[in-house]
Amino acid sequence: MEKNQFNEYKLSDSILKAINDLGYKMPTAVQKAVIPAVLENQDMLVQSQTGSGKTASFGIPLCEKIVWEENKPQVLVLEPTRELAQQVQEDLINIGRYKRIKATAVFGKASFIKQKSELKQKSHIVVGTPGRVQDHILKGTLPLEKIDYLVIDEADEMLNMGFIEQVESIIKALPENRVSLLFSATMPKKIENLSNSYLNNPVVIKMAATEQNTPKIQHSYLDVSEEKKLTALEAVTTVENPDTCIIFCNTQDKVNETFQYLVDTGYSVGKLHGGMIQEDRFEVMDAFRQGKFRYLVATDVAARGIDVENITHVINFDIPFEKESYVHRVGRTGRAGKTGFALTFVAPNEEKYRKEIEADTQISMQRITVPNAKQVTRAKSDFDKKMQTKQKPKIQKSKQLNKEITKLYFNGGKKKKLRAVDFVGTLSKIDGVESEDIGIISIQENVTYVDILNGKGQLVLQTMKDRTIKGKQLKVHIAKKK
Ligand code: AMP
Repeated sequence: MEKNQFNEYKLSDSILKAINDLGYKMPTAVQKAVIPAVLENQDMLVQSQTGSGKTASFGIPLCEKIVWEENKPQVLVLEPTRELAQQVQEDLINIGRYKRIKATAVFGKASFIKQKSELKQKSHIVVGTPGRVQDHILKGTLPLEKIDYLVIDEADEMLNMGFIEQVESIIKALPENRVSLLFSATMPKKIENLSNSYLNNPVVIKMAATEQNTPKIQHSYLDVSEEKKLTALEAVTTVENPDTCIIFCNTQDKVNETFQYLVDTGYSVGKLHGGMIQEDRFEVMDAFRQGKFRYLVATDVAARGIDVENITHVINFDIPFEKESYVHRVGRTGRAGKTGFALTFVAPNEEKYRKEIEADTQISMQRITVPNAKQVTRAKSDFDKKMQTKQKPKIQKSKQLNKEITKLYFNGGKKKKLRAVDFVGTLSKIDGVESEDIGIISIQENVTYVDILNGKGQLVLQTMKDRTIKGKQLKVHIAKKK
């Protein structure tokens, strides 16, 4: 394995290999502060911006700490939105991949029964939104007695969304003897109170905003009346011609209207808001991440933590009324050292909100005007050309990691009394296969899925066609589900 600064922590080879595969060579500032403290089982209160590598800062030491053999969940991570819950679950699976760590996501508007059956199997980590986590606790489908670690992520957003009471009642149901980590971008009084009540002598970390972790963003605004916003949007985007752009609206109706206008005008566009069914929300985020369309019209559900590569422009079609919201929305651009462009539409009676944002965030916005007809005409052919050009598909990190992984399907599970050890025992006896080549094993009533790592899927598949597991001959093929 090539030299990697993460080697300096006491991490096992399986975690280090995953870090290396993810392309992380050097811990970020927040990781330098959090990883060693969590490895020492310290409670922590961390104020840190999104995009700072916060997920891996707790994901790495927690995946290290997990005892694989334990069947009940050991880590509970609370997230304010379903998208974040899913993204964090995916990040944790990537980090714990070679240790075969199972992370389950639970959130509302998705099948409770399916989640219940996933929770019944081995789940080392549960990542969820407070409401659904609480439902599972109340219905007895989420055992808590082995929870050694609690992560409250994006605590200020939980507060904004009115989840704090639910979070508190979840905390009260957890074993007292646990490690608690609280992450928040800002530290309002209520979050400090939460920390004082439930964290045990926490290490307090405040990450100062530095050149490195502050996004480079050019902030600007445009005075425009409500009726002229759509035409202004068209003119600005034609002249700016962004590679990828998020347009934020304050309400679902506004998202629908703006989206429809852009569809009718021929934009490559998607939409996202909380009124859409969860499958559609995930599908849209996935397609946007992969570069299948250039513009996303969204409410604040897309503002938090969502990590999409290379968003060049953020347009606040409606001015956000809260300064936190402004910071999170514009934080989707200017990531990874690139300069981003943020533009806020300000209607005549909204100047006071704009001034408040400037005062609170210490950001100064430059006033711009709507491009004139001549500028728009001049820019139009380049704009049309870009709109017709497909973006180079953005490869998702997890997809890249998955290249070496084959998911195999076996037609036997719990009913046949099969357990993970039976699969590991049999598969690791195949010539050329080691136990490190066996990834996550998911045993259901009648079927089992096994991830085979390191490009050894075909070898295992061919061999298992004529071998038995615990004396049973099972059908095996490449799994259809991802
Ligand atoms: P987060 O703050 O958790 O949303 O992370 C922001 C982005 O930084 C994600 O795309 C991570 O995959 C990436 N990242 C996290 N840690 C590192 C690291 N040490 N080196 C490079 N990229 C990282």
